[in-house]
Amino acid sequence: MRTVYLDNNATSAIAPEVLEAMLPYLSDLYGNPSSMHTFGGQVGHAVEKARGEVASLLGADASEILFTSCGSESNNTVLASALSSRPEKKHIITTRVEHPAILAPCQYYERQGYRVTYLAVDARGRLNLDEYAAALSEDTAVVSIMFANNEVGNIFPIADMVSMAKEKGILFHTDAVQAVGKIPIDLKTLPVDFLSLSGHKLHAPKGIGVLYIRKGTRFRPHLRGGHQERGRRAGTENVPYIIGMGKAAVLAGQNIQQERTVVAALRDRLETELLQRIPDTIVNGDTENRLPNTSSIAFKNVEGEAILLMLDRLGICASSGSACTSGSLEPSHVLRAMGVPFNYAHGSIRLSLSRYTTAEEIDYVIQEFPPVIERLRALSPFK
Ligand code: PLP
Repeated sequence: MRTVYLDNNATSAIAPEVLEAMLPYLSDLYGNPSSMHTFGGQVGHAVEKARGEVASLLGADASEILFTSCGSESNNTVLASALSSRPEKKHIITTRVEHPAILAPCQYYERQGYRVTYLAVDARGRLNLDEYAAALSEDTAVVSIMFANNEVGNIFPIADMVSMAKEKGILFHTDAVQAVGKIPIDLKTLPVDFLSLSGHKLHAPKGIGVLYIRKGTRFRPHLRGGHQERGRRAGTENVPYIIGMGKAAVLAGQNIQQERTVVAALRDRLETELLQRIPDTIVNGDTENRLPNTSSIAFKNVEGEAILLMLDRLGICASSGSACTSGSLEPSHVLRAMGVPFNYAHGSIRLSLSRYTTAEEIDYVIQEFPPVIERLRALSPFK
């Protein structure tokens, strides 16, 4: 059976060039990058080259790039560092639609006595900057706002939000796991203190992440015990994955235009056709300001999980929410925060494309999708 992979916000395929770049570091080039000998030293040079490649994608300096194990680690590390470096401040600002790798630590810090403001979103998933301005206070240690939402693709006004936080001297972190590689980010002009990204969302393997820490920002390591990563994260480097991350960053830079033109056009055609062919269907999120690859579509009176199962039989991989929330029949926290009506929220499907998605695959989905909804609606008790 063929596979049409439209779940790239959950994870993405490893680019062939990335795999090729990694392979020598899984075989012959196994030296420890910290070793004094030439054999290890050449690996150390390769790690530094990869650091530079990630830095260039972001408009950062190589010294500002810290390799981690994943986006979740980067997010957790930022909050822990920001709070311990400003112990007198007891307030965090975030949003109701963050990834669980921000929400769960925030809930943990609430239990430790911190106050957390979870900014609301409107029906299209947009933040209200007045609510944000009112929340910024003398007591705020850190603001953590995602660059783009993983479920509906909305891009948040990070530039405005950073400058409002900076006016008050508050640390600003953005979880850019879904944004990096899909839309340009230039940290020369965007003065965030911290940014998280994750390799497996941009065609590097799972298990490699990055934390950007702006030069001069106070940082407290989460992992102690070694001098690696300039003392900011102990542990012998995951060399092959770091090399893969570097290559993926180079490719992301080269392909960013394609994301905004070719990928966006395929996504738009898919969405327009599904909306035309299937009645009682809406698009969730801010269609004017979202990632080029993401479409969250809600089909009235159908169960999202049932849609996924039927698509799966056709070889079409999609998601009913974020990878972490699927498996539960509750509508996702993002759709609930947006107040998407119950009978639409339950039938919401996320389709997320990549530069490897072809026009022919989109044609296949356009042809196969409408009968799935028709069949499920015929069986539905809500008519
Ligand atoms: N942040 C966002 C917005 C995500 O979408 C994800 C993964 O889905 C993560 C963080 C976690 O990244 P990782 O899987 O690398 O831990």
